[in-house]
This record gives sequence, C-alpha cells and structure tokens, in this order.
Amino acid sequence: MSDRKKEINRRRTFGIISHPDAGKTTLTEKLLLYGGAIQEAGAVKSNKIKKGATSDFMEIERQRGISVATSVMGFEYKNKKINILDTPGHQDFAEDTYRTLTAVDSVIVVIDVAKGVEAQTEKLVEVCRMRDTPIIVFINKLDREGKDAYDLLDEVEEKLGLNVCPLSWPIGMGQDFKGVYNMWEKNLQLYTEQKKQKIADSVSIEDISTPEIEKYIDKEAADTLRDEIELISGVYPDFDKQTYLDGQLSPVFFGSALNNFGVQELLNCFVDIAPAPLPKKAEDRVVDPMEDKFTGFVFKIHANMDPKHRDRLAFLKIVSGTFERNTNYQHVRQGKNLKFSNPTAFMASKKSVVDLAYPGDIVGLHDSGNFRIGDTLTEGEKLEFKGIPSFSPEHFRFINNADPLKAKQLNKGVDQLMDEGVAQLFTLESNGRKVIGTVGALQYEVIQYRLEHEYNAKCTYENYPAHKACWIESSDDKQLEEFSKLKYRYLAKDKFGRLVFLSDSAFSLNMAREKFDKIKFHLKSEF
Ligand code: GDP
Repeated sequence: MSDRKKEINRRRTFGIISHPDAGKTTLTEKLLLYGGAIQEAGAVKSNKIKKGATSDFMEIERQRGISVATSVMGFEYKNKKINILDTPGHQDFAEDTYRTLTAVDSVIVVIDVAKGVEAQTEKLVEVCRMRDTPIIVFINKLDREGKDAYDLLDEVEEKLGLNVCPLSWPIGMGQDFKGVYNMWEKNLQLYTEQKKQKIADSVSIEDISTPEIEKYIDKEAADTLRDEIELISGVYPDFDKQTYLDGQLSPVFFGSALNNFGVQELLNCFVDIAPAPLPKKAEDRVVDPMEDKFTGFVFKIHANMDPKHRDRLAFLKIVSGTFERNTNYQHVRQGKNLKFSNPTAFMASKKSVVDLAYPGDIVGLHDSGNFRIGDTLTEGEKLEFKGIPSFSPEHFRFINNADPLKAKQLNKGVDQLMDEGVAQLFTLESNGRKVIGTVGALQYEVIQYRLEHEYNAKCTYENYPAHKACWIESSDDKQLEEFSKLKYRYLAKDKFGRLVFLSDSAFSLNMAREKFDKIKFHLKSEF
C-alpha cells in the first residue's frame, strides 16, 4: 500500500454531539488526555454560552475565541490520527453544528444518565441519520443516580431511532456504582472515586461465569451482572462492524467522563471500529478518498477576532488526494486559482503551518473573503459537494441601515457574515428589502455587534412576520407563474439566487401546498 493510502487509512475524523451539559467538553478533554495531546484536565474550555456570566456581547466574543481554539482537535492514539471536530452545543448555533457534521466520518453521542435523551440530541442525531453516519453512544455520569440502563436503551431506540447494542454494562449506579463490564474487551473495570483523573485499571474476565469476579464485586452484584449480560445478549443484536459502519447499529458504552471512567474503553473501541475517511457525494459523482487528485470543501468559516484584520479562517475538509502548501488549486465557484502559503493544521489546541494534508484532515485557510460555506477546491475539476443544505430559519427580521453614510460597510458586513453562515439573507422580490433569517434570536445580537465592531456599520431590525422559508421547485411553469403572481409579496431570493417562499403561517403553507400541487415546497435548500 502506498504511503498516502496508509496515511488516509489511519485517519479518524469524528464529532461529539450532545445536549448542553451532558459532558461533551469533559469527554473531549479526557480523550485528548489519552492521546497525550494535553497534560491535565481543565485544558479544554467549554464553548458554551454561559447565561448571565457577563454581558451577552462579551460572552459571544469569549465563545468565538474558544470556538477558534477548539474547532478541530487532532491527536495520535494507537497509530491512528484522530481529529475531533467541535460542535457548538447552544441550540441557536445548531446550523453551525449541522454543517460541521458534513465533515465528520462518524460521531459519538453523549447522553446524561439522569436526563436521558434530550431535545438537542434528538435533532442532531436526526441529521446524522439522514446521512447514515455511524454513531457510538456514550452514557455519561454513571457516578450519579440516573435512569435504569434498560430504560435508557429503550429511550435511545425510541427517541433517536437507533438500533443499539451495548458493548459495556454498568454494575450499579450512583452511590452503588461499582464499575462496568466491558463486553468489547472482555474485562471488568472497577470504579473507585480515588482514581479520578487517572487511568483506571481493569481486570481481564473472558467469561463472566467465572467465580473470579467475586474477588472484585460481591456475589449479589456478580449474579445480577451475569443475569443482565445474559438478558441483553438475548434482547440486543450482536455487534456487527459493517452494520455499524452502515449507520444501522450503534454500540453503547457506559461511564463517567468526569471520573475518567469508561473513556479509554470507548476510545479503544472507537479506533478499532470507526471508519477511515469515507467517499463523499458530489453533484455528478461520488468522490473516493483514495483518488489521486485533490478535492476538498469548506464547511466552516471563522472571522478574525481582531477587527483590524479582516482576514478569516476557512476550514477545509480534504476529501481526496493530498493537499499541499503553495500549490495552485481551483476555487470552483469563482473559477479562479488560489494557493495558500500558510495553511494551518490543528493538533489539540496548538496550530502549525502544514505542508501536506490527507483526506480526513482539516486545514485552516487564511481567506480575505473568497470563501463561502460549501465552496469546493479541486485540481481543476468542476465539482460541487452535496450535503451542506440550509434549513428554514425559525426567526425572520428586516434589517435596516441605521447610518446612511455607512451603507457600503453594512452591505459588505452582511454579505461576509452570511458567507460565514451566521444567518441567512433573503431579498424580497417585491421591493428588494432584506430579511435576515436565523435559527435563534441570539444571532441577531451577534450580527449587530459584529457589524458595529468589525465593519463600522449600524443596523436596526424590524419584525418580519414569516413562519417558515420554503425553497420551491416546480416542473410546471404555468403553475409556478400563477403562484408567483398570487404570492408575489411573499417571494424572495436567497443568497444563491434560489427562489424562496416566506410563508406567513402554517395554514397558508398548507393551503399553498394543496392548491399548487405541481410545486414542491422544501424546508431545506438541498433536495
Ligand atoms: P457539555 O455542555 O456537554 O460540554 O458538558 P460539560 O463537559 O461542560 O459538563 C457539564 C457538567 O457536567 C460539568 O459540570 C461537568 O463537570 C459535569 N460532568 C461531566 N461528566 C460528568 C460525570 O461523569 N459525572 C458527573 N457527576 N458530572 C459530570
């Protein structure tokens, strides 16, 4: 096998998703500890928006700072090059997470044992399931009282629509938590709180019927464990790697990230089973990571924190070939060649200039405004990757210029912030007014603040009474024309010039759907 193929095969690029507070940051940190990427706990900052800690604006900036630092965390473990892509937990930034999920090859879902499956987890897993992304589940905080393990698995199956297969099983919980039996490595992990932050010992127990277990846990607990393992092997399917890789079976681990318990087992299994870089769908064909020619796409753009420097960092996921420094690549949308003298690689919280990067890797490209989310770089092929849709926003507001002398700055600022994917811009067909659509109300503050601080422009907002944005398509020109006439006031173009219907209520959307049966109304921009 060529060196390049070996490099590609040892890459594991994944994301950790959870509802806020389930333990994503803690788990990330422990994984980095095992990879030797950091030396102590507390090194990874949470990218959460803390409520009421400081002013919202300060908080947004703090959050942006952290999110630059933690966007990608790479480390080596057991000869695998692992890249963790960070995802914001706050629901107002859900779109950012959806986009990041287009750049991962698998995910780990963290669930709080006491809270079970929460709203944000449901949404994110749904996005993963749309693409059959392989999922491993980690049930966290076993040191606390929580739900019964069987009930939790039922909940995961029902609410997340996943077929599960436990690969570890808890012995007790909360006060009585004694450890887990790891079916993957066939060993018993004993829990003692003193082991905090250290790497826990395990005893190898090939066969749980052996009385040897009773040296470590009392007979009653041992019997319960034996019964439970027998029961689950009857109820749940055996683990099958291919079914997992197809996104149809999710192994489940139990542990406590804070106490560093069950984390190494999770990581060991992860490096054994998680997929190397996967082929990716483009408009006209599927691109295989082993192809010779380089291709990649931008899934995230980060503006510079320093308002004096307008440059941005575009995060490029390499899909095929190799990416080399100082080499001309084609920016497909703009049809022009670009080369990069300082592409950045990410190892844990350190950044460094990279000469060569492989599929699975993420490189940061310094950008003065060329990139937009979804942009493709190739060696010349006209290629467009699929799978970075926009979803209908939940909130809509007119944006008005509050300083007539700064109209140019405002337009530029709005344009660039939309390229970054902070929100979506719709221009009304009837009068050219601009409407900004967001997932959460927080984005309006972000935009206003950043326009002022980075572009020296001021804006005000005015409510726009839309309910949903629907991208429309029709095979029937006559019906489309009729619809356009009737709904003229509600039509807009998105940033890419696609036609969008901004319906004002669920009722009017349903009416439109009934009346115009040849028109398709999509709640996302890719169909
Ligand atoms: P995130 O919002 O998902 O990133 O969650 P964090 O990693 O910031 O964790 C949220 C809170 O849960 C923090 O106070 C953690 O210390 C705590 N936590 C994380 N893992 C565990 C665990 O295994 N046991 C307990 N008791 N607390 C935990």
